[in-house]
Amino acid sequence: MIDQTPIGKTSRGNAATFIGVFDLIRKEFSLATGKEASLFSFNSKGACPKCNGQGVLTFELHFLDSVKTMCDECEGRRYNFDVLELKFNGNSIADILDMTIDQAYDFFIDPKIRKHLSVLKEVGLGYLRLGQSLSTLSGGEAQRLKIANELTKESNIYIMDEPTTGLHMSDIDNFYRIIRKLVDKNNTVVIIEHNLDIIKYADWIIDLGPEGGKNGGELIFQGTPESIVNNKKSYTGSFLKNLL
Ligand SMILES: [Zn+2]
Repeated sequence: MIDQTPIGKTSRGNAATFIGVFDLIRKEFSLATGKEASLFSFNSKGACPKCNGQGVLTFELHFLDSVKTMCDECEGRRYNFDVLELKFNGNSIADILDMTIDQAYDFFIDPKIRKHLSVLKEVGLGYLRLGQSLSTLSGGEAQRLKIANELTKESNIYIMDEPTTGLHMSDIDNFYRIIRKLVDKNNTVVIIEHNLDIIKYADWIIDLGPEGGKNGGELIFQGTPESIVNNKKSYTGSFLKNLL
């Protein structure tokens, strides 16, 4: 089930760690600098000692919500000074985490890294910074990140709950291409959706109604988009008629 629930509640995870590309990037840094790869993790040896790699300091206040401020030691960069000195093609590991996925895709040459990043671009997340905390993603972004993680798999059944919520019109065609890709790999995709621009692409529509909530829940129609438009009882069909 690919839903919109948040992926991470802590500030530790980011798009790069979620998709597994951060391990590869740390390896590149290790090769370039001759240091061990674990040094380039903000969760272990490379971490800023003051904020322990969080990039922020949290102050607990009596009777009030805790307050977070940017760490003044690393200036939010999460790493200690020794690690920040180590460069790969002129950039520190913190510089890399500050890149967008689009920028990182252009920066790296390694085909494995580029393949991971291209999947994130495909789901329309090229604008995210690699180091952006998963806890700050919108529901729609979290969902697309989960889809990206599935694009390499086969023969699964996916259920998506209104995946186009918050998606710009121009991104909907892009999203449809991703769904096609999943289907072409022998996956089945079940989408709960009101968006006609997605419904029109379905191989099979199950139309529930006639109204919403307690006035609905009946099977009004099932079949192809081409045949629902001729169904007099289906609201979906009458609206879809204008699009097909
Ligand atoms: Zn710090």
